[in-house]
Amino acid sequence: MNITTKITYPILVALTVLGIAPTSAQKSSPSSKTSAPKNVIIMIGDGMGLNQVALGRILAGDPGTPLSFEKLPIRGYLSTHSSSHIVTDSAASATALATGQKVPNHVIAITGEGKPIRNLFEAAHDRGLRTGIVTNTRLTHATPAAFSAHVVHRSQEKSIAAQMTRNKSHVLLGGGGRVFSAEMRKEYVQAGYDLVTDPKSLAKSRKSRIIGLFHSSHMSFEQDRNPETEPSLADMTAKALKALSIRNPGFLLLVEGGRIDHGGHAHDGCAIAHQTIAFAKAVEVAVSFARKNKNTLIFITADHPTGGLAISESVDPKMIRSVPHSSEWISKKIKSGADLASAWKEGTGLDPLNESERATIENPNLKLRMNTKIGHVLSARAGLHFYPLEVQATHYNTSGHDGLFVPYYAYGTRATSLIGMMDQTDVPKRIARLLGLNLHSSSKSKKKSTANGKK
Ligand SMILES: [Zn+2]
Repeated sequence: MNITTKITYPILVALTVLGIAPTSAQKSSPSSKTSAPKNVIIMIGDGMGLNQVALGRILAGDPGTPLSFEKLPIRGYLSTHSSSHIVTDSAASATALATGQKVPNHVIAITGEGKPIRNLFEAAHDRGLRTGIVTNTRLTHATPAAFSAHVVHRSQEKSIAAQMTRNKSHVLLGGGGRVFSAEMRKEYVQAGYDLVTDPKSLAKSRKSRIIGLFHSSHMSFEQDRNPETEPSLADMTAKALKALSIRNPGFLLLVEGGRIDHGGHAHDGCAIAHQTIAFAKAVEVAVSFARKNKNTLIFITADHPTGGLAISESVDPKMIRSVPHSSEWISKKIKSGADLASAWKEGTGLDPLNESERATIENPNLKLRMNTKIGHVLSARAGLHFYPLEVQATHYNTSGHDGLFVPYYAYGTRATSLIGMMDQTDVPKRIARLLGLNLHSSSKSKKKSTANGKK
């Protein structure tokens, strides 16, 4: 953690100074002090700290040009520690963002006594609002799970899928097909959902309820994604907004750019850059929706940074843009029988590995996945550095997250209510207050708690 803090602190300070002053965009924001938002879009770049954002700018072509969400008028930072660790994981972090309460790492919205902690989506359903989830990870992965389930450990994905199926958000688009059994799928169809598994059928769907399962596990990294078989995060976001807008009493939509984090775990700077841009494109879609539908609030943030990324003086933008595949793709090639040299050549298009790079990748004493070792070597060539592999190998609890604050950005109706240095737990509390949602108890138990004088 010390290493990351040292490297990233000056950048954080510089951006804080830049981010504080209100901009002219702030004046033209459709925020209103009187009206409450009808629709809220929460967008989470999993693993997206400030260095990941800066890397996205480099891939986009100009380190001086802000990405879509950086142009938004309201900006600040959130603290992210969990109740058990300074360095949070996605489960505890998403729980904080979904419920307003801190839990230990790996826990999804449940107390130590096993009691479910109410989330924003449950409060929204209680009020007859619609909800949706878009992610490029498995739908049952930690971040979407915190908005739809309660389990002791994030790895209980079957239970998460069962709870999701019971609670039924109106739109669910992402990966994780293998976790949704034939029975569960049938239940969705019987409840009137369109069940789609490819971009064409997603585009064709006209229903207000859709479940889209586009990969058995996480959807592919952007560099490896086949647009014929997997839609982009931006396309899924556009479709979700369209479907949720049909006979709309108001909605809450969660959009997760979930694989920025995976690029961080894999020390793959090129993949991080591509995933961040895919997320920025999804934000563009959401912002253009909010421009047309003035009663919409957008809140964009991250759950934690990942990998201890540092952009060094030897950063090579041309190389970052040229590498055709992710280290995950290269690693899969090797697992399916290709030799390291040819998989490296095909996956990176770069000069062959030298002896020391090869020794790092083949070092049996480094208990890390092969894609992380390949990513580490690949990124170093582009001047992008991460936790030393020996350090990362000892980071058992989160496999390499870091404890820095995360940025947030907001736009739209009452976005000014989200101003100021906050903790993650403040976000759902403020959103619930804006929408008049009760995060403390369901309508069934509400009478009891008001009788006790509790609010
Ligand atoms: Zn992670």
